[in-house]
Amino acid sequence: MRSSKTLPQVFIANIPSKIYSQKEDDNMEWYDEWGQRRSQAANEKNSTYYASPSSEYITPFKIADDLYYVGDRMVCIHLIRTEEGLILLDTGFPYSKHLLMESIIRLGFDPADVRWIILTHAHFDHYGAANEFRNLYGAKIAVSAVDARSMREKPFRAIASFTNAPPDIPVIDRELEDGEIFSFGGKQIRCVLTPGHTLGAMSFFFDVTEGGTTCLAGLFGGAGVDALKLPFVLHYQLPLDMAQRMVASLDRIKDEPVVVHLGNHPYNNHTLEKRARQLKEGGNPFVDEASWPELMEDVRQKSLKIIEENAELARQHHIDL
Ligand SMILES: [Zn+2]
Repeated sequence: MRSSKTLPQVFIANIPSKIYSQKEDDNMEWYDEWGQRRSQAANEKNSTYYASPSSEYITPFKIADDLYYVGDRMVCIHLIRTEEGLILLDTGFPYSKHLLMESIIRLGFDPADVRWIILTHAHFDHYGAANEFRNLYGAKIAVSAVDARSMREKPFRAIASFTNAPPDIPVIDRELEDGEIFSFGGKQIRCVLTPGHTLGAMSFFFDVTEGGTTCLAGLFGGAGVDALKLPFVLHYQLPLDMAQRMVASLDRIKDEPVVVHLGNHPYNNHTLEKRARQLKEGGNPFVDEASWPELMEDVRQKSLKIIEENAELARQHHIDL
């Protein structure tokens, strides 16, 4: 709309001049500019994926007994088989919902058997297909009570600079509390509130069997540290101490004896490298006690660095932290 050449002359005369002078942009707060640049960069970087998500598709595979990977190269989605139907941990971007259905079918399951969708946190790239499963198959959606409230009160947060699309906020059937055990179909999932990436990001722990032994599976519900940066928290009207909250969350869960580490995004637990190794060498690289503490330490170091950077930025912009 900024190009005057495409508009009829009479129309131009009625448009306030500030549209052309970009005055609005000049008056924007520095952190909003940061947010807008970030959205634009993400949109450009992901444009091929948004248009053709099959470009990042990977064939679904088994991680342990009754536990499967049904995500793609961008976002992790895990499927748990129970005695009473299927549970999905997250659902990926809305653009790839047909591929999630394809993956469930390829594993020999029926998408209509998904009974519960449990969300790690209230961001667009994790809850994207949730409403569709709810509408089509009657699946119920659970998320932490804290993130449910955050989505209700400030739905714009859910986009998290991934796109300029409107957030299709999921309908929440159950709000999870810190420490709650989510029981369904003989499966018990321990829910631990681990704020930082969002106000109410939740991590999940449950037993799985693999190779005849029982071990703990763990999923850290929000490891991305960009969301801790001062311009991000200002842009999304979040508390200024999100990075400190992240460090406190890591302290809560770092000593969990996780053997099967599930990612929130594939880079968290090297999902794709482990899968490649499994295809090449056999065995189960997902059984790896070193993987969980490695992520905990990595996120801690990054968060501590951001705490320092935030303090410097706050000084520059005269903000009291
Ligand atoms: Zn997120």
